Amino acid sequence: MAETTDCVIIGAGVIGLACAREMALAGHEVVVIEAEDAIGMHTSSRNTSCIHAGINYLPGSLKARLVLRGKELLYQFCPQHGVGHRRCGKLMVALDEAGAMELPRLKANAETNGLNDMEFLEPARVREMEPELRFHTVLYSPSSGIIDTHELMLALLGEAEENGAALALSSPVLGGRVSGAGLEIDVGGKQAVTLRCRSLINAAGLGAQKVAAAMDGVPPATVPAQVLQKGIYFVAASKRPFSRLIYPLPGAHATTVHVSPDISGAVRFGPNTLPTDRVEYSVDESHAPFFYAAARRFWPAIEDGDLVPGWAGVRPKTSNQRASRNDFIIQDKKVHGVPGLVNLYGIESPGLTSSMAIAEHVHSLIGHGLVRAA
Ligand SMILES: Cc1cc2nc3c(=O)[nH]c(=O)nc-3n(C[C@H](O)[C@H](O)[C@H](O)COP(=O)(O)OP(=O)(O)OC[C@H]3O[C@@H](n4cnc5c(N)ncnc54)[C@H](O)[C@@H]3O)c2cc1C
Repeated sequence: MAETTDCVIIGAGVIGLACAREMALAGHEVVVIEAEDAIGMHTSSRNTSCIHAGINYLPGSLKARLVLRGKELLYQFCPQHGVGHRRCGKLMVALDEAGAMELPRLKANAETNGLNDMEFLEPARVREMEPELRFHTVLYSPSSGIIDTHELMLALLGEAEENGAALALSSPVLGGRVSGAGLEIDVGGKQAVTLRCRSLINAAGLGAQKVAAAMDGVPPATVPAQVLQKGIYFVAASKRPFSRLIYPLPGAHATTVHVSPDISGAVRFGPNTLPTDRVEYSVDESHAPFFYAAARRFWPAIEDGDLVPGWAGVRPKTSNQRASRNDFIIQDKKVHGVPGLVNLYGIESPGLTSSMAIAEHVHSLIGHGLVRAA
């Protein structure tokens, strides 16, 4: 006999938890099903934790819209719920003439997307803000910031639970089907169970394609390809050269590396881009030369030994396009024909920033008419 609930959410990363909060606040009975034995064990805790302002996304894309709304929602939610964050600002740094020619295009793109607060900085101001930075021209984004992602996830879960949501850990979703009365999913783990629900949100991140493919009734042609890209970080061991987000443009060089302070002020470099065909998070010293070379272009005072290996994440992409060009894919019945089901694919950057806006969007796709299960 299947147990019945209004809404099942697969995945307790930041997207699943934001959706759980949104649906629970709207009065729905929500169960979050997570394969791991804790929340946020994958991409949501393996990223840059940057609150993106919405600068370089393709105009008209879901990313362009949801990142702006998501940023606004985060800046409201974080202070109200004690989530560590800092509106530290981001310096888009041209290191040479080639990079400088890119900056007006970035500013214009941001303005097309509705982000109108970016400004070019006078050199003296840049030197005052970031004395260790070597630069040619700087475009400043004051609304970019950083966030404690784990505190965010705990706060989202907390508010969801206060409104009746339940979380089941160590519960991998193995498959499911469309049944006459709604949707059914088979959950493995020690307490294997079949759950019946009226709405199902597949927020399984790196596992989203696998979950969708295991759902009888979801047309296979609607499940996009998955392209994995690993990104690793190195950390400044004992120095704090920068206090803001520093995004150097590649300019004449093929690649670059970004800088992000965390909430404690520790300075991280990365991520780089490594194609991969599996989810694994090892980081080894062999990447150090790339990080030193990239960092030296804008941090001339860096010395050997300043950087130590940090951590890695895997981008859940649907193509090899850059994150700014590769849009989120959020499918409802209009695409796959299954009422009540929303599949989220390719929720790479800026998914963290957009999380609460994605949750609003998913709620609107599922419809406000959902009623509590008897
Ligand atoms: C290197 C890197 C840097 C990034 N930097 C930023 C940034 O600075 N700013 C920003 O806005 N975004 C950033 N992002 C993007 C952001 O981290 C993601 O968009 C976001 O974390 C995705 O959250 P999620 O909940 O979809 O995925 P996840 O956090 O991966 O959560 C999915 C959950 O589903 C669970 N799951 C999977 N399969 C199953 C199953 N079968 N049954 C049950 N549970 C299952 C997993 O265990 C996991 O807990 C970055 C991403 C990467 C990789």
